Amino acid sequence: MVCTGCALLCDDIEVGENDCRHACRIGDAHITSTNQIDPVVNRSPVDMDTAIKSAAEILVSAEKLVFVGFGNSVTEAQATGIELAKKVGAEIKTFHTGIFDDILDGRVKTCTLPEVRDYADVIIFLGCDPMNTHPRLLSRYAYYPRGEKRQHGWDEDRTAITIDPRFSHTASICKDVYTIDPHRQIEFMDALMDALLSKVPKTTYDKKRILKLAGTLKKAEFGVVFAGTGASTPPRDAIVRLMDRLNESSDFRLLSLAPGYNLRSIAEQLHRLHNRPGGVGDGVGSGSSGGGRGSSGDGTDLHEADCILCLGFDLMNSLPAHGINGKMIVIDPNETLTSRYADVVIPCAAGGIDAAGSAVRMDGETVEVPLTRESGRLSDVAILKRLLEVV
Ligand code: SF4
Repeated sequence: MVCTGCALLCDDIEVGENDCRHACRIGDAHITSTNQIDPVVNRSPVDMDTAIKSAAEILVSAEKLVFVGFGNSVTEAQATGIELAKKVGAEIKTFHTGIFDDILDGRVKTCTLPEVRDYADVIIFLGCDPMNTHPRLLSRYAYYPRGEKRQHGWDEDRTAITIDPRFSHTASICKDVYTIDPHRQIEFMDALMDALLSKVPKTTYDKKRILKLAGTLKKAEFGVVFAGTGASTPPRDAIVRLMDRLNESSDFRLLSLAPGYNLRSIAEQLHRLHNRPGGVGDGVGSGSSGGGRGSSGDGTDLHEADCILCLGFDLMNSLPAHGINGKMIVIDPNETLTSRYADVVIPCAAGGIDAAGSAVRMDGETVEVPLTRESGRLSDVAILKRLLEVV
């Protein structure tokens, strides 16, 4: 089976009667999760038909609608969600898709995960901790495996560097670690860019260490920057500038380590919608936010929305409950903090567990996601199609 625990979409998982082989701890918990929910309207359990009808009534009566999430749904559900958003005039707000947009716009160079395994000699983990978010990244692609041009093993062939506000688990295995002040990330980037031009940077950070880092990066044959959520917030443009500067002296690629197993797919679909000839997606507004604090600066502020539909997304994990004033609809396989606050909760089957479909891996590779077990639950595609029929 394919694990949908994160955007690596590991395809070597074997699920037995009582065990789950090859999956990491996140994947194992995801695959074996029994934390499911019942349909709920106004905190009372109801049947599925009533929940879907109540959600439809909210959707047709609302004026400022925002759909959030989409990163934990198969591509087919995302496409149906876009159709529904068009029909009811909703804005789609995705979180942490900014770096995908830069990649899709061609603002930065990227590569595939097998290319990382085969060629990468310098790897930077920027604002991310894959050991806790994409646990098999290092063992399958980024650090430990031998690749076509990296035959001598990680200790000889690869240099791993972490640049992060925290000393993370990933930092603990890296040769070089730069712990930066979250409020002075751009200062660090600017200092590094100066150092890459062999200028002594004007900074309060350790100049000698930054010059040493620049020296390592300039010697890279095939460098890869993995950027996480800590890098998709305000310094995002700084990352594009840094990538440009790195590529003046060496060859560096950027990959996003965003949360959600299928975030790249929704970024691609919205990108196509907004870049096709003749308009900006038939009226579907969309905005992407780096942080998830509700006022992203692009699109409708979540505080102003009178209806928020969360598709496979735990909004309350990022936004306090008092920040929400509109009605809330949740479509999710599992109980979340948000589902406890929602006006309508519609449980759905989980992609790759009890629903089949397709997904796009973090590097752009399309992966078929087969069904692992039958459960009788409706998929999110089926739920969204039913909503589409009645609104
Ligand atoms: S690394 Fe991600 S896709 Fe692979 S097993 Fe772990 S959670 Fe699943």
